[in-house]
Amino acid sequence: MKVYMATDMEGASGITQELMTFADQARYQEGRRALTGDINAAIRGAQAGGATEIFVSDGHGACGGYNVIFEDCAPGAVYGLGSPGLGYLDGCDEDCELAFCVAYHAKAGAFPAVLDHTQSSRNIVDISVNGEVLGELGLTAACCGDLGVPVGLVTGDDAVCAEARELLGDIVTAQVKIARSRTCAHCMAPADARALIEAKAREAVERAAEFQPFVIEGPITMRLQYLRTEMAHGWRRRSDVTMLDARTVEFQAASVLAAMNIYAGYA
Ligand SMILES: [Zn+2]
Repeated sequence: MKVYMATDMEGASGITQELMTFADQARYQEGRRALTGDINAAIRGAQAGGATEIFVSDGHGACGGYNVIFEDCAPGAVYGLGSPGLGYLDGCDEDCELAFCVAYHAKAGAFPAVLDHTQSSRNIVDISVNGEVLGELGLTAACCGDLGVPVGLVTGDDAVCAEARELLGDIVTAQVKIARSRTCAHCMAPADARALIEAKAREAVERAAEFQPFVIEGPITMRLQYLRTEMAHGWRRRSDVTMLDARTVEFQAASVLAAMNIYAGYA
C-alpha cells in the first residue's frame, strides 16, 4: 500500500507559537525537530500497519517548503522537499490508497486552536468552496479526493482533530495537544506524542478500506477573501477571475484540485 503523507508544521507536538514556525524566528530549529519527530512516528506506524511505499510532502511554507531535518528523516519513505513542484499536491496520485495529514492545524477563525489560519496566516481571512468555508485540512482532503485518495489520519491539536471528524467522519486522529488559545496549548511530552502518532498511523493503515475519499463534485466556485486590498491586487490581471470587492476574488474551476493549482500559481 502506498501512503501519501501531507505535512504542515503548526500542528506538530509541542508547537504553540509562530516563533517555532517561521524560518527567521528564534525557535524555528526546535519546530523543525518537533515536526521531524512527528513525521518519523507516522512513518513507523504506517510501516507497522503494512504500508510498502510512503511519500512525505513537506508542505509548510517556511524555507520554501523544506522544514524537516533531513539527516534525521526515517528510512523507507521518499521526501518531497522544496517548492515549487510540478503542481499542487505533487507526489499524490491515483496509486496512493491512503493519505495522512500530519501536524495540521484548524481553519482560520477556529478558537481555541493553535495557530489557526487558512493557507496564509498573513494574507487570507477565508477560503470557501461553493459557499462552504474550508481550512487547509478540508482543501487537502478535497484535492486528495479528486484523485480518489481518502484521508485516514490527522494529527494536531484538539481543534483540527474535531474539524477532521466533522468534515470526514470516523477517521483516525492523533491529538497531541489541547489548545487554550491561538498561542497556548497543553502539550503531550514528545515521547508520548510520538507513541500516540505511531499507534494511530498503524490503525489508519489497518483500517484503510473503511475510509472514503472526500469529493466535492465539480465544477466548483472558489472564493478567496484577503486581509487587505493589495494582497488581492495581483488577481486583477486575470480575465477568468472576478473581483467581488477589492479584497475578495472568485473563480470557477473543474475541481478543487484545479482551483488550488490556480491559487498556488500553477495554472
Ligand atoms: Zn503551515
